[in-house]
Amino acid sequence: MPVPSNTTDNGPPSHLAGGRLTVDLSALAANYRLLSQRSAPAQAAAVLKADAYGLGIKPVASALWAAGCRRFFVALPLEGLQLRSVLPQAEIFVLTGLFSVESAAAYREARLIPVLNSQSDLSIWEAHGWDDERSRPCAIHVDTGMNRLGLTPERARSLAEENALTGALTPILLMSHLACADAPDHSLNRQQLESFQAVRALFPQSESSLCNSAGIFLGGDFLGDLTRPGIALYGGAPVSGIGNPMQVVVTAETRIVQVRHVRAGQTVSYGAAPVVRDSVVAVCATGYADGYHRSGSGGGVPLRSAVPNGAQGFVHGHRVPVLGRVTMDLTLFDITSLGPNAVAIGDYIELIGPNMPIDEVAEAAGTIAYELLTSLGRRYCREYVGGTV
Ligand SMILES: *Cc1c(COP(=O)(O)O)cnc(C)c1O
Repeated sequence: MPVPSNTTDNGPPSHLAGGRLTVDLSALAANYRLLSQRSAPAQAAAVLKADAYGLGIKPVASALWAAGCRRFFVALPLEGLQLRSVLPQAEIFVLTGLFSVESAAAYREARLIPVLNSQSDLSIWEAHGWDDERSRPCAIHVDTGMNRLGLTPERARSLAEENALTGALTPILLMSHLACADAPDHSLNRQQLESFQAVRALFPQSESSLCNSAGIFLGGDFLGDLTRPGIALYGGAPVSGIGNPMQVVVTAETRIVQVRHVRAGQTVSYGAAPVVRDSVVAVCATGYADGYHRSGSGGGVPLRSAVPNGAQGFVHGHRVPVLGRVTMDLTLFDITSLGPNAVAIGDYIELIGPNMPIDEVAEAAGTIAYELLTSLGRRYCREYVGGTV
């Protein structure tokens, strides 16, 4: 089966790259084990959509398989094929459903399990989800409040009745998705659970799945039979506002390519942000083309009028603020507080990692860890540590 070859590889070697990205596969495996424990008695699957949240579907899938994960979710049939080429035995669900009769053939060939989200999906799979005389397994997504994908509860109910008669579908999983799981007190959580359970009773042969990472921490009846963690596997905080129990998986660092001395009254970067004191500035070879968002630009930049401070880096034991606008390939850090001659050309500043928690970096850029990870880009030198890959 031809597999489109646009999965992430290790990127350029470090001497050709402006930044390096380290992915700790043993931390990933530890996170999977913690989420499995928290999911019990449900099983934990793993969500590997968008190239495993930007970290590389191949090494991530292999490490999770080695950690005991056997069931996976991706977003698109393309991703299902990529994952199948890495894990011939895995159970692979594809969340975004069926696009067409042609894609149904790709699903059958690669033994992918479509999540049927709409009447169109149902019709295609009822007609084309067969091998010889056997209807191939599928999942049914019922919408319980997100209004994104999924059948209405009413349609799911009539489907259960129809399918009991016709047997046209073999739904092995009934799933829904929580809109506010990261806000445990939100009333929609319980409403969605109740709505889901009412439909779930009509599919006694199917397993059930409701929880993403945050949902796992709601616990109890939310857990169902199978959970679907994504971001927490990769080290993101599953629930905002409380301590993050996950291990750090991703470290992103940028190379210092110049150190300059800027006088008070001079300006830096595009738009000429004023510098108020004599400053030492580290010019670093990572920018928004590497997913270091422009919205993380330094304090005093006009686009930051809503939030006073920009992103920070970490170098030689110190937090250092971004100075001026983040540009496509370069970012400036104010390293004055380190004193003169504290850094050398070629040293690295940590952008994301153990000292710069990903959720904090995301917040400084007005976004979420998910978006930071999936925008990391192709120019980092990638190193996978702590695994067998
Ligand atoms: C992305 C996604 C998940 C994983 O969510 P996280 O918040 O990353 O844990 C689970 N289920 C569905 C339907 C998703 O789209």
